[in-house]
Amino acid sequence: MLFNWQTSFWQENFSAKAPAPAIILKGPSGIGKKQFAQTLAQYWLCENFSTQHLPCDICNSCRWVNADEHPDFFPLSPISDDTEEGTESSKAKKKITPSQWIKIAQIREQQSSWLITPQVGRYRVCIIEPAEALQLAAQSALLKILEEPPAWLRFILVSNTNKRLMPTIRSRCRIYALPIPSWDQAMQFITETKQVNTPAWLSYHGGMPLIQQTESTQVSSEFTEIEWCRTFLGSLSDERISTHSIHAEPKQMIAFLQKLTFDVAQLKHTGQVHYLPTMQSLLAPVAQSANANSVWHFWRWLGQQQRLQNHPLNAKIVVRDLLQEARQRLKA
Ligand SMILES: [Zn+2]
Repeated sequence: MLFNWQTSFWQENFSAKAPAPAIILKGPSGIGKKQFAQTLAQYWLCENFSTQHLPCDICNSCRWVNADEHPDFFPLSPISDDTEEGTESSKAKKKITPSQWIKIAQIREQQSSWLITPQVGRYRVCIIEPAEALQLAAQSALLKILEEPPAWLRFILVSNTNKRLMPTIRSRCRIYALPIPSWDQAMQFITETKQVNTPAWLSYHGGMPLIQQTESTQVSSEFTEIEWCRTFLGSLSDERISTHSIHAEPKQMIAFLQKLTFDVAQLKHTGQVHYLPTMQSLLAPVAQSANANSVWHFWRWLGQQQRLQNHPLNAKIVVRDLLQEARQRLKA
């Protein structure tokens, strides 16, 4: 499926065009790159490719791709890691955390299949998503294949920041920057899909309608981060308000504090708010009294904390410390 901000881009670049051996689809999170890649793979494998401008959706190949059962289709993404070994009884409780990385073992596992001729159609298609998750050794293994690819093999690399890919891989790929939806297109999309019905949510996510859906996207009027914002800002001016009610994953909390701090800085310098427009009246006094230097340093500090976000520290303590730090830095 294509989103309406993608259709003309598709027609210009991919409709009725023979697939390049390897491409990179790049762009910020939340604009529908993954869905675009899936549609493209389906199209290249579609039995009616030569007569259609889009995958037909009814042939066997199309149905198999959609069911993730196509023998020539190879999606490759980070797989979950078991964080601890355990006995049968503790296994039920053990945490499965999604890995950040695509490991060389995963490449090796698929590699032998890539090198065999297609079972059904003309191509074998591999989607690597996100491509920057490829560990260095995995990138080297991939590069070897890209250097001498079999005639039938096609790669679609999906990337938020393709700069983390080896230049030698990038140079072997045709790179496409996928279109970013306009504000109206994004609003129309989130209204139609009934995730949320609020411009505040879209502002918070920088206008990107397909940003990873958390439970907060289910709420129609408010969303979790807005509640955090109200509680946090309240705690700055009133000692009796506690931030203990805020429960979050460190990653989510860092993203939240980055946006809040960005808006405080923006308000201070330009009088405008980017991510949290509905909170402007509560942010204004903070922006007025906070020290500009301190705000700037805190924003940079948060960037450094991103590296720790998947560290197996106690999430509750990390979040409590983050909020504590934020209170100190953003107070007058
Ligand atoms: Zn088809």
